[in-house]
Amino acid sequence: MVYISFVKKIYIESLGCAKNQVDSEILLSYADDEGFERTQVPQDADIIVVNTCGFIESAKTESINTFFSFRSAFPEKKIIFAGCLAQRYWGILDLDEADAIFGNHDLGAFPKVLKAIEKGNKQIVLAPEYPDPDSERDERKYNLSFPRSAFLKISEGCNHRCNYCAIPIIRGGLRSRPFDAVMNEARRLVKSGIYEINIIAQDLGAYGTDWGEGERFCDLIESLSKIEGAFVLRMLYIHPDTFPEKLIDIVKASNGKILPYFDIPFQHADHKVLLGMKRTGSREIYVDLIKKIRASLPDAVIRSTLMLGFPGEGREEFEELLRFVKEAQLDWMGSFLYSREEDTPAYLMRNQKEHNKAHKIAAKWQEELEAVQSEITSRRLLSFVGKKYLALVEENIEGEDLSIARIYSQAPEVDGATVIMGSDMKPGDVVEVGIRSVRGLDLEAIKIRNVL
Ligand code: SF4
Repeated sequence: MVYISFVKKIYIESLGCAKNQVDSEILLSYADDEGFERTQVPQDADIIVVNTCGFIESAKTESINTFFSFRSAFPEKKIIFAGCLAQRYWGILDLDEADAIFGNHDLGAFPKVLKAIEKGNKQIVLAPEYPDPDSERDERKYNLSFPRSAFLKISEGCNHRCNYCAIPIIRGGLRSRPFDAVMNEARRLVKSGIYEINIIAQDLGAYGTDWGEGERFCDLIESLSKIEGAFVLRMLYIHPDTFPEKLIDIVKASNGKILPYFDIPFQHADHKVLLGMKRTGSREIYVDLIKKIRASLPDAVIRSTLMLGFPGEGREEFEELLRFVKEAQLDWMGSFLYSREEDTPAYLMRNQKEHNKAHKIAAKWQEELEAVQSEITSRRLLSFVGKKYLALVEENIEGEDLSIARIYSQAPEVDGATVIMGSDMKPGDVVEVGIRSVRGLDLEAIKIRNVL
């Protein structure tokens, strides 16, 4: 007798940020409960999920293009249009090509979508509201990061309501996950062998403020750092205007358990532009914050994102931003052009024609800014040469005697990498390396010894 096994397969294309990646991991976990197996080959899948991003214009375009490229490549397959873009526009989206449109507030409703598709239902639209935070799933059967690295999302949504930002429209107000749920998830990650836990949220510093008890992030990160085990914590995204300064001492006292890596999205440095964004800082205030961090933690690495082309930014305001970049000496900087998003307060600050004109000017300023920063980054990278660090190996380069890894100054996907010469390393290994040179935005190293 011949047994044929019909394993249902699901493929997920995860676009956008790390928060979306965590959602993809949770969706896959729900699919697993329903008997689906993840495939990394879309041709093999019964169902394809495009987990979209809807934050800015370019992300929306990429999401739509990705969806249609899957649709035209696989006309017979079931395709679910999910994620931020689905959540933002589910009520008005005219997308007959999708078998289902699924929002991202209540991921626990995903099995309903899968079941409806299996029953042959057509054009399913489901975007239920957030469930009670205590009932949300925090156990993931999948990790889409490189081996021994994982993201841990501690809250969703945002209460800051910056005038340009569509996140509160998509993800809603701040919803901090229960303290114990985060702690339990971190313990599980450590137990499963994760070495690098990347803590993520729209603004880590706001954690717990929705409970009316003031910020609880410092308590949380301190408690996380006391979990037994060989791991490190990396903090990603802390709003500069509400940066909890006692965090600096907590990082110092943790003796490397909390990496001295600060990702602070300043967005701009001109006070008037920042006020227009509904932020309160200035060049002086932000430089002062950076100095405080570096005075206490000389090895601190500071990353930021800056936005060009926001209404009210002229050459003078841009010059102020340039001055900031020169004074701040950021280790890493990402820049992006302001995207005019409907339903945000900034949308009404100027019309589309004025926006297009400003956009072109801002694109030139962006090049100027990037050129200044790229010299600063290269110079700062030199300070790593001749020193020893722990590195987490991400992958081996086939046919070559080298591996790609990251040290504490390099966050997953956004910063440069450390290229380690030598063999006998595998993804997930933690090794001690000696940095011998800078190559572009990467560091070149030799392996000293295996550590973990
Ligand atoms: S803090 Fe960040 S996520 Fe929140 S509204 Fe401002 S830019 Fe958007």
